[in-house]
Amino acid sequence: MTSITSKAVRIDQQGGPEQLKLVEVTVGDPRPGEIRIRHRAIGLNFIDVYQRDGLYPMPVPLQLGMEAAGVVEAVGEGVTHLQVGDRAAYASQPPGSYCEVRVMPAKCVCKLPDAISFETGAAMMLKGLTAQYLLKKTLPQGGLQAGDFVLFHAAAGGVGLIACQWARALGLQLIGTAGSDAKCALALQNGAAFAINYSTQDFAARVKEITGGQGVKVVYDSVGKDTFEKSLDCLRPFGLLASFGNASGPVPPFAPGILAAKGSLYITRQTLFHHIATRESTQAMADDLFAMVSSGQVKIHIGQRFALAEVRQAHIALEARKTTGCTILTL
Ligand code: NDP
Repeated sequence: MTSITSKAVRIDQQGGPEQLKLVEVTVGDPRPGEIRIRHRAIGLNFIDVYQRDGLYPMPVPLQLGMEAAGVVEAVGEGVTHLQVGDRAAYASQPPGSYCEVRVMPAKCVCKLPDAISFETGAAMMLKGLTAQYLLKKTLPQGGLQAGDFVLFHAAAGGVGLIACQWARALGLQLIGTAGSDAKCALALQNGAAFAINYSTQDFAARVKEITGGQGVKVVYDSVGKDTFEKSLDCLRPFGLLASFGNASGPVPPFAPGILAAKGSLYITRQTLFHHIATRESTQAMADDLFAMVSSGQVKIHIGQRFALAEVRQAHIALEARKTTGCTILTL
């Protein structure tokens, strides 16, 4: 029986960044359906903040982190798609990626193409698969066609910069919002057709101007509380609000009648983890992402790197809106 020591980041109770503690854990052999993976880089995601601070109640103690890339070190019984020595990357449920080595379910882990670096793999899996399902599986009535307007909030963030580029590749006119002029410029460089600084401008009024009064087919809203109601005002009749996060706080309760009043609208709130519930769906979505990245249509912008031991600073920067693109933890 193998017993390996790994550095890991754990919380013993939910709360502020000070709860993040670097500890040593013991890692054993994979059981049936599992692998052991040695990480080469780890992805940071806003969901890590929700799980740390208690917005998403979680059992503690908890090893945080949902994304990483590395090398497969051991393979449990019944795992056929991975072999020892494979380069691999994943977005995982349950959490636990903030570490050097872990044992985890194999079904969410994909072989990483040789052309994609470990850092890129670690940065892009959770965020890239999210952009994939938002743009290709979360569709308004009649689907999306080239030329359609969509609105994407926090467009200079991790998911945002990937979505800007993917939307451009699909021929969509993505209107991105961001919290500063510099972030707006970055969204434009990455494929947004228009950018709105929502810290200084009324984004609903600007969207109406840009779309000639029509509104957009879909609003992708991960900001939540601060943007929800105005996001509805950006939609054309029968448009879709795809709510997928709560960076500013959760969306407050609302009466469905508001959807009728604002144009017989649709609303959906999805999570990546239902889309990647099976090995087959995970691989199909990952293949799509790998193709976009390998072809250069989507470039993964790693805006910040922190050592695993600096994870508190990484969380503080992400929460303070000081990051752009993806953030990784290095080993
Ligand atoms: P980002 O890099 O996009 O960081 C979040 C961004 O949200 C900030 O940079 C900031 O951009 C914006 N923001 C607006 N208001 C606030 C606020 N009050 N506090 C902090 N940030 C704010 O993070 P990720 O790429 O990791 O994730 C983007 C969003 O997508 C998150 O909300 C995340 O939870 C969600 N998500 C949802 C998934 C799902 O399946 N449902 C899967 C993956 C991510 P700015 O300064 O430009 O406003």
